Amino acid sequence: MKTLTKEMQAAITPSLALELLKEGNQRFVSNLKINRNLLQQANETSEGQHPFAVILSCIDSRTSAELIFDQGLGDVFSVRIAGNIINEDILGSMEFGCKVAGSKIIVVLGHTKCGAVKGACDHVEMGNLTALLTKIRPAVDDETETKENRNSGNPEFVENVSKINIKRTVKSIMERSPILKEMIEKGEIGIVGGSHDIASGEVTFYPETMIFGS
Ligand SMILES: [Zn+2]
Repeated sequence: MKTLTKEMQAAITPSLALELLKEGNQRFVSNLKINRNLLQQANETSEGQHPFAVILSCIDSRTSAELIFDQGLGDVFSVRIAGNIINEDILGSMEFGCKVAGSKIIVVLGHTKCGAVKGACDHVEMGNLTALLTKIRPAVDDETETKENRNSGNPEFVENVSKINIKRTVKSIMERSPILKEMIEKGEIGIVGGSHDIASGEVTFYPETMIFGS
């Protein structure tokens, strides 16, 4: 796998970007990761970077985007925050990644057994975490399927909330960033939500969240 150049990045379409991530995750779950010379890649990217994807994922130590998609240096912008939520600063980072630096896809990646989602399910309040969990709370409220045990002790409820949170984040990005919305509508970039199973390593993309322009 070669280090991405500006020309290589320009030739990648949003659909191909998704394909590259799917292939990378397939390598990860098959334990067939590419043997990269990271030091050489550091050298090759020292004058500039041309990543093909912006991946918003959780801070969870088991969910490193570069590892689970088998990517090297200069391949992806990795935005990480507990519960893969967005705020103004994260939207700004995504706008930089796509509009300025030329990435072709935005991925909102949640994961199973997410501690932040569990915290929101349990209405945890603690220091600055309270405000962060408030951003996941609408997903808890939107989960109307579960009538009993609406807490972190109910794995099904937690995974339902996690999926809703991912979908809401994709929608919010479109609503809150006119720059990204326009790029998506023009087909310059794509956006998709998905979830990473921390036990198997497998990433499932949600087709209903996929927007790849016209
Ligand atoms: Zn998490």
